[in-house]
Amino acid sequence: MMRNWEDYVRKVTPYVPGEQPEGTDIIKLNTNENPYPPAPGVQERLKWLSADSFRLYPEPDCKTLVRAIAKHYGLESAQVFTGVGSDDVLAMIFLTFFNSEKPVFFPDITYSFYDVWAEMLRIPYETKALDQDFLIRKEDYYEENGGVIFPNPNAPTGILMELSEIEDILLHNQDVIVVIDEAYIDFGGTSALPLIEKYENLLVVQTFSKSRSMAGMRIGYAMGNEKLIRFLNDVKYSFNSYTMNRAALLLGVEAVQDGAYFEECCRKIINTRERTKSELSRLGFAFGDSKSNFIFATHKSIPAEEIFEALKKEKIYVRHFKKPRIENYLRISIGTDSEMEKLIHCLERIL
Ligand SMILES: *Cc1c(COP(=O)(O)O)cnc(C)c1O
Repeated sequence: MMRNWEDYVRKVTPYVPGEQPEGTDIIKLNTNENPYPPAPGVQERLKWLSADSFRLYPEPDCKTLVRAIAKHYGLESAQVFTGVGSDDVLAMIFLTFFNSEKPVFFPDITYSFYDVWAEMLRIPYETKALDQDFLIRKEDYYEENGGVIFPNPNAPTGILMELSEIEDILLHNQDVIVVIDEAYIDFGGTSALPLIEKYENLLVVQTFSKSRSMAGMRIGYAMGNEKLIRFLNDVKYSFNSYTMNRAALLLGVEAVQDGAYFEECCRKIINTRERTKSELSRLGFAFGDSKSNFIFATHKSIPAEEIFEALKKEKIYVRHFKKPRIENYLRISIGTDSEMEKLIHCLERIL
């Protein structure tokens, strides 16, 4: 008898997340986590969380968190969808909306999960090359397609697209879903959120992982027209009714309610980023104008991989992608001022 079950396996080449090294003496600048703790209310609420409540399933509609997010952005609950990190939300979006025979468009240099989802779900796609300065060329997205998705600011370049250009892309794409992945929008960009009132085919996706210091809690959300949110929920309930756990739902509410703390953290990271930019250029690095919590930099004479390895020996972790066009770049997350000072001192020694 032929054992041919392997022919029927869904074979995938998975996304490779950044390393999560153990230890307290390391400086971790490789996965764009926030160096500051979550809002104080999160820790406070955690003290009152009772294990007994874990007997019960969480809210299937995530309504407490959905309501808090909607309130924060001045939306209706029906315009908000939440999931287990924005990765979960984005995967649901691919599954729900990218079912055309035509290819979905996204940049060649971008979040490296998009092609993984497209491959896994057998969605046709076409990548559009960034220009020499790593900018997205909006005209590339005017051809007929099965949907459009890109991060703004883009990852791993950190470069922001102006809202007027996003609107041009929307004007040329009214028959497909356009997704703006705003994982880093809080670090100096302008959100496309107001455009959801004007374009019923726009989804804006954000996350608690970066600007709200909650990567470990896995909270992401999409905002858009009620009809889009309904379609997303139909797919979610057909897949797993209880995506988000009780702790994430409760603690997420605490995080979103503390606007002052959130703004303070973002301001600190922006200031540290701008200081780090001038230090890095003094050391011979070149980089685009990042509006995110990382800097994507290349050195004028030393190969990126060499710097990457040398930093790792000093227990400083940054991210290096062995990919065409960007193999000579390092993505350096913004940590605290003192972490960035240590990085700069270390680079002074290495270079
Ligand atoms: C970090 C990131 C995400 C996903 O983050 P989650 O932790 O799953 O919310 C999505 N898109 C981009 C571009 C990211 O950098």
